[in-house]
Amino acid sequence: MFVNLAAGRRVFTLLACLLLCGAVAFSAVSCVGGGDNSEAESPMSEVSLQEESEENMYAEFEAPDFSVIPPRPETETVKNRAVDVGLSYGTNALKKLELSATDGSMLAFGGNVYKNLSVIWENGIMYIDGQACNKACIRSEAPIALSSTGWSYEGEILLTCGRYGITVVNRVDIETYVKGVMSAEIGADGSFESRKAFSVICRTLVFVAKDHGEDFDLCNRNCCQSYRGTHHRDEINDKAVDETKGMVLTYNGTPCLVAYSSSHGYNSCSSFAAWVGADIPYLRVVRYENEPLDYGGRWEVTYTYEQLSKRLKNYTVTGQVKNVSVAETDPYGSSYVYRINITDTAGNVCEIKFGGNIMNVLGVRCANFTIENIPEGIIIHGIGNGHGVGYSQRGGHQMGVEGYSYEDILYFYFPGTVMSPCYDF
Ligand SMILES: [Zn+2]
Repeated sequence: MFVNLAAGRRVFTLLACLLLCGAVAFSAVSCVGGGDNSEAESPMSEVSLQEESEENMYAEFEAPDFSVIPPRPETETVKNRAVDVGLSYGTNALKKLELSATDGSMLAFGGNVYKNLSVIWENGIMYIDGQACNKACIRSEAPIALSSTGWSYEGEILLTCGRYGITVVNRVDIETYVKGVMSAEIGADGSFESRKAFSVICRTLVFVAKDHGEDFDLCNRNCCQSYRGTHHRDEINDKAVDETKGMVLTYNGTPCLVAYSSSHGYNSCSSFAAWVGADIPYLRVVRYENEPLDYGGRWEVTYTYEQLSKRLKNYTVTGQVKNVSVAETDPYGSSYVYRINITDTAGNVCEIKFGGNIMNVLGVRCANFTIENIPEGIIIHGIGNGHGVGYSQRGGHQMGVEGYSYEDILYFYFPGTVMSPCYDF
């Protein structure tokens, strides 16, 4: 079944990267009047870590596999569906790691049991309890605590000897994984129906996660979803996950890119206006006047022209900014800014398009803003917190307070989608 998951990832990798990171990408900057044609630096330039030469580097060393990592369970039940989450990998792989079970249970590894295990990586060789080892699968009846973070993880810990250190992966069933994401992403906050809605979003994102070019499904950081195992697990979140067990959001039979922001500022932004023209049918403009603008949802940023000239020097010819103005809002009708013009003192105009780019260039938390000109510079008045596409966490919370169900909330924010069991994919 994970063949299908991988296929889904291939289809959505690029868009997921854009949507989930609010990334600046492609050529969305154009200048007229001889302006500098520099493009905003793309945050998508994460190094793809291929291990192709590793075999050659260590070909002379043939360490035994004391515990071969078993294939992922191939069952049709949601309960046993496994997700591999990368905890430490690539250049962030560990040189040293201690493992222990949280309640004093024993760790099982390579046919033996241990109270705790010490793992080190030296010169391209991984040693577990002093024995050289290429791969390991470590199990326990209790969550396994890792010294690298102090957090504990249910399921299995898979260790692989990588080029830069010990690659650590947590293989865990998808429902337990979603509970760990909920506690990391929203803590103990929000109405119960909004938590149920969010649990469906977290589960769905497993199927559209970024491809890291590594041997796991998704990472434990913001680029995919934050995940901290059992750390600060919340009973109400757990109940919300249990009540939506196995359900994901789909469009035309495929899991959706269920993007979300903290708040939208009364209307969402079309995917087209936010992300380099990505015109996704269920990421349309929706309006919800009762959305609370707490949690940083109303903000103001002031720049003097001197500050703007330093910040925007790559978007001018003279290096001196004279004016920044909103040239166009979302063509699909939201109040989000789609295009700004930066004018320098010689009259050259540089145009920046797409909300994600504009947020990065101006250093603001949301592209839902107006610009007020003052003699010494500009004041940017904004509402909303985040890219503004898809689901609003604060809006979903309020809809739950007003009595809407989690299905109502999700179908409102993602029009045209339907709920489906994830074991279909
Ligand atoms: Zn990731």
